[in-house]
Amino acid sequence: MSEQETNARLAAVLERYEATIGLEVQLEANTRSKAYCGCANVYGATPNTRVCPVCTGQPGALPVPNRGVFEKALRIALALGCEIAEVVHFDRKNYFYPDLPKGYQITQHMTPLGRGGELRFPAERYAEEAAGRVEIERVHLEEDTAKSVHDGEDSLIDFNRAGVPLLEVVTEPCIHDPVVAYYYLLAFRDILLWIDASDCNMEEGSLRVDTNVSVAPRGDGELGTKVEVKNLNSFKGVRQALEYEIVRQAELLDGGGRVVQETRHWDAARGVTLAGRVKEGSMDYRYFPEPDIPPLAVPREWVAEIEAGMPELPQQARERLHAAGLSGYDAWVLVDDRERLAYYEAVVAVGAPAKPAANWVNGDLAALLKEDKRGFGDCPLPPDQLGELVGLLEAGTINTKTAKKVLIAAYNGEGAPKTIVEERGLGQISDEGAVRELVAGVLAEHPQKVEAYRNGKTALSKFFVGQVMKISRGKADPRLVNELVGELLEG
Ligand code: ADP
Ligand code: ZN
Repeated sequence: MSEQETNARLAAVLERYEATIGLEVQLEANTRSKAYCGCANVYGATPNTRVCPVCTGQPGALPVPNRGVFEKALRIALALGCEIAEVVHFDRKNYFYPDLPKGYQITQHMTPLGRGGELRFPAERYAEEAAGRVEIERVHLEEDTAKSVHDGEDSLIDFNRAGVPLLEVVTEPCIHDPVVAYYYLLAFRDILLWIDASDCNMEEGSLRVDTNVSVAPRGDGELGTKVEVKNLNSFKGVRQALEYEIVRQAELLDGGGRVVQETRHWDAARGVTLAGRVKEGSMDYRYFPEPDIPPLAVPREWVAEIEAGMPELPQQARERLHAAGLSGYDAWVLVDDRERLAYYEAVVAVGAPAKPAANWVNGDLAALLKEDKRGFGDCPLPPDQLGELVGLLEAGTINTKTAKKVLIAAYNGEGAPKTIVEERGLGQISDEGAVRELVAGVLAEHPQKVEAYRNGKTALSKFFVGQVMKISRGKADPRLVNELVGELLEG
């Protein structure tokens, strides 16, 4: 179904139905070793080379919880304002699957490390207020399974991924708009990157999203039957799948049908969700306490220590930038790319005012980098040079038009902005006497036009300004030229 068609149908059904969405994000924590053994936690190693008796589920092997996983999980839970459990228990989630040699995953069913909490974020990319708010139900520790690779007739298994720490963050069913779900995911990923909890690489599977969605007639007061949608490998895919699924469920109800609780898969190529061949939903995992790991206390001093070491969070940064005078757009774009933000901070650190610094970083410089397929971490123009350029412009030494040219020259390594301006004589003529002389010269050259102006053709002032700019080769201070052209014509 095309996007426009979905959107039209979505708008129509949302008049009558309220959609409810809950998201479950699973992320691989970027610890050095796995969750319950000392094997390296790396992506892309030769299959079955990062394995040991624990993560391959050998009889009698004993798991030992990795402190680093708790640290990452605590940072996430604290960033989301969760209440941290005093004591955590581990549980076994039992099921059979070839990629699960133990026959169970170690997880936290009953006592998640973090409970409650919320995330606030701009509900639209360019909003200045943190109008979006999603309630967090839980943050808990889990472990990844091995990876099955299907190769023609063969099914192969790579145990390198078995036992990689997986953290799960579950929202309450409190989202009513696929767009809000989308911005929640963007904002949440920013947090994970800032607190260094995960690489957040969806292609490599280090970040996965399952969505749950239901619809109910408006004013019904109760939630409808939820459908879980899997196989989402981009945030945009999440939004599209939700939009599609809301329309499908609402139109099903309109036609007198009933939504069945099931797991569906997003087919990105066709833009539809499809029911799985096997009906899932009522799987009984027979959770029971993990006997090999005792309940663990989470000391308050440790939590306080981790909290004290937390960096500034993305929303705090957005608010700080906004307070410095930046627009919601500038703040979002800077926070969304940490190299860009670091670059901007370095420009401001050498004295450039916030707003023009952001304009140049997000405007002309971002465009140059994009053309070169480079990131801000790899920018050929050092930030202090952009600061220098902004300084020249702010001081009136050069005008905007010249600044754009100097930027390109400095970007291409032709020298520092000050040197370029001096060597090429690009400095703006802002000396009043000099500009007055230029204006007087132009007026003297065009006596008939001066006459016409004085007889009421005032639009001619633009002509005189243009002539002065031309004669000064673009270097005259345009504000001064305007002012003096007016003054001398009246005189
Ligand atoms: P289950 O026990 O079936 O896994 P949970 O209550 O644990 O269900 O919720 C799993 C996810 O589904 C959560 O993200 C939650 O917000 C979401 N969810 C629960 N009920 C609904 C509903 N009726 N509509 C949409 N999402 C829901
Ligand atoms: Zn191992």
